[in-house]
Amino acid sequence: MSAQWQLIIDVARCDNCRNCFLATKDEHIGNDFPGYAAPQPERGHHWVDLRGTERGEWPIVEANFMPVMCNHCERPPCLAAARDGAVRQREDGIVIVDPQRARGQREIVEACPYGALYWNEELQIPQGWIFDAHLLDAGWTKPRIESVCPNEVFRSLKVEPAEMARIAEAEGLEVLQPEWGTRPRLYYKNLHLMERCFAGGTVVAVAEGVEDCVEGAEVVLRKDGEELGRSTTDLFGEFKFDRLEPGSGAYEVEAGHAEAGRAQARFELGQASVYLGVLRLAP
Ligand code: SF4
Ligand code: SF4
Repeated sequence: MSAQWQLIIDVARCDNCRNCFLATKDEHIGNDFPGYAAPQPERGHHWVDLRGTERGEWPIVEANFMPVMCNHCERPPCLAAARDGAVRQREDGIVIVDPQRARGQREIVEACPYGALYWNEELQIPQGWIFDAHLLDAGWTKPRIESVCPNEVFRSLKVEPAEMARIAEAEGLEVLQPEWGTRPRLYYKNLHLMERCFAGGTVVAVAEGVEDCVEGAEVVLRKDGEELGRSTTDLFGEFKFDRLEPGSGAYEVEAGHAEAGRAQARFELGQASVYLGVLRLAP
């Protein structure tokens, strides 16, 4: 198989500045690219959408963001639902919803399980992010969203599928809803920041009558007696265990420091990240 476009998106780098969203609006509102995309309406379409989530509780709280758009799936349900060649997959992997042939085919929008297509009421056509195929075909070396992102969230590459599988494995990349079998060409790095939970806490000890946070304490996470990971407290005595499955039940943490002693805590992980509070070391 020949080389195909793929896009890696690093969730840890996105700060929700929305340059990618605005650049796509600027590219497509009022501009017609025959064979690629008809003009985007001024309102209502989010071809590049930004999603966000909050994790944790005071004092360990974070907000994370990620761009979502058409995944240019290798097995696209939108293509399966289209009539008269209204959706085509190019040799380089990019999926194009033809702005002429797709006229009147609202079912193409409904066939996308990711909600990545939008219905243009005025033109009566489905529309979505086209991987900036019109620019790539004109000689651009990367999509416009990648050029405008100040935080280097995006990394596009044109490689053979076997090479992409190797990169995904080596870098721990994930796709959205792999269980749907659509085989997206958009890969997310650090997706746990959106989809999984953490458990954090603060370790303190009493020294010379004063309670203070403990840097360098070792904290062990266990489930059913089995060790799952280790962490070391930072300058503020804080520790964090990440990438835990939401709703995964009972855990135990044990903190220890050679001079200050030990402490334990148990917790039940529901659907959200948790702050376990203060663990007070005692000899
Ligand atoms: S994300 Fe949706 S619109 Fe894009 S290729 Fe996959 S099924 Fe089609
Ligand atoms: S331009 Fe980059 S940092 Fe800004 S919202 Fe888009 S992906 Fe995030």
